[in-house]
Amino acid sequence: MLDSIKEVLITQEALQERVAELGKQISADYKGEEVVLVCVLKGAVMFFADLARSIEGDVTLDFISCSSYGNSTQSSGVVRIMKDLDKPVEGKHVIVVEDIVDTGNTLHYLLENLKSRNAKSVRLVALLNKPDRRTVEVHVDYQGFVVPDYFVVGYGLDYAEQYRNLPYIGILKEEVYQSK
Ligand code: 5GP
Ligand code: MG
Ligand code: MG
Repeated sequence: MLDSIKEVLITQEALQERVAELGKQISADYKGEEVVLVCVLKGAVMFFADLARSIEGDVTLDFISCSSYGNSTQSSGVVRIMKDLDKPVEGKHVIVVEDIVDTGNTLHYLLENLKSRNAKSVRLVALLNKPDRRTVEVHVDYQGFVVPDYFVVGYGLDYAEQYRNLPYIGILKEEVYQSK
């Protein structure tokens, strides 16, 4: 295990198992429908790639990127779209794939934004849900795991762009970000 990781919260095996379950559930719920899977860059990228491969059916992929965090561990509360979807989602079933719902700011903004484009439906799948820190209500349609109020990294989630490549979800040692 890496020196800067205090504890492994979710192992690689547990991630794989849960992602496969979510894929099955989504495949069943959208049977016979076309779905646009939207990856919220960059945090969701590992989850997105695994989830997409576990969904059976008619799926297209698109990518969006918003800013809210910068390099710190605190949300700025202001959300901006840095890279928009390539294709319009009007009349489509959209599933937004996100790494973690924390304060809810990003998803609240993003879901409203996508709904305003007249999608047929918009749902959210979040790998992690950290309900303790919620300031804006967000309906999570599918969730991987509920996590306690720790700053977690790995499997796509970063601290200052690092640790995204860890194959597990780990709790970052406080001294790593307190010393900065
Ligand atoms: P929210 O807008 O819900 O506060 O969170 C927005 C984004 O902040 C998440 O999509 C994620 O990229 C980042 N974030 C929130 N909590 C954590 C965390 O515990 N670890 C990491 N690495 N990122 C987080
Ligand atoms: Mg994110
Ligand atoms: Mg980040």
